[in-house]
Amino acid sequence: MSLRVLVGCKRVIDYAVKVRVKPDSSGVVTQGVKHSMNPFDEIAVEQALQLKEQKLASEVVAFSCGPAQCVETLRTALAMGADRAIHVNVEGAEYENMQPLAVAKIMKKLVEKEEANLVIVGKQAIDDDCNQTGQMLAGLLGWSQGTFASKIDVDGEQLNVVREVDGGLETVQVRLPSVVSADLRLNTPRYATLPNIMKAKKKPLDKMSAGDLGVDVASKVSTVRVSEPPVRQAGSKVESVPDLIQKLKEKGAL
Ligand code: AMP
Repeated sequence: MSLRVLVGCKRVIDYAVKVRVKPDSSGVVTQGVKHSMNPFDEIAVEQALQLKEQKLASEVVAFSCGPAQCVETLRTALAMGADRAIHVNVEGAEYENMQPLAVAKIMKKLVEKEEANLVIVGKQAIDDDCNQTGQMLAGLLGWSQGTFASKIDVDGEQLNVVREVDGGLETVQVRLPSVVSADLRLNTPRYATLPNIMKAKKKPLDKMSAGDLGVDVASKVSTVRVSEPPVRQAGSKVESVPDLIQKLKEKGAL
């Protein structure tokens, strides 16, 4: 079976940035902050590209849903080697409140439109840590799913997916079409080279709205408050083990 792969590429605050909460506790500061492709999505793109290089996939389509700047994220995927890209525009408060279910509904429409038979997403987006989109999409499509993949082998109409589970590795066989989510050890994503960054500017990038796909992205969840994690108390040094035990007793920890 020749694979037509749709890959999720979420634009998130760069993993190296120290995230700050807005003064009114309504969310985190995103303006003027460096954003990048969700790191697990880079791994998902790499996996799709490897399938294409192995002649197992015929086309790799990168998808991103969010504000206009998602185009930059998609250009990165195209520069890595994706064939085409689709940007579904959702802006402002609507995007900030959007839940994984809405993304899954959008992806379902794209799967049908593009006749994709494999979707690769990251195991989670590092901004909301939801770890829901892939599973919901598999549910909506009635497809099999192989989550937290650390190895994928195509075996005819099936995929052998090695999954990272507590205490080890589990190998599952999933029948195509399928949704796979990429874990950290699946691969090391390639860097986009300068010539490929130039070439990516000419690759097709479709733009549409959620409404064009007939998806209502209105959220049924509202964020009550976002706050900084509690500040860690400073530690103190003790001279000896008996001192340590004494201190722990004083603090009621023993
Ligand atoms: P989450 O369920 O939010 O943790 O996201 C899991 C994965 O779904 C991400 O790693 C992406 O591959 C995909 N995904 C979620 N939201 C988006 C989005 N707005 N645009 C593109 N892909 C997304």
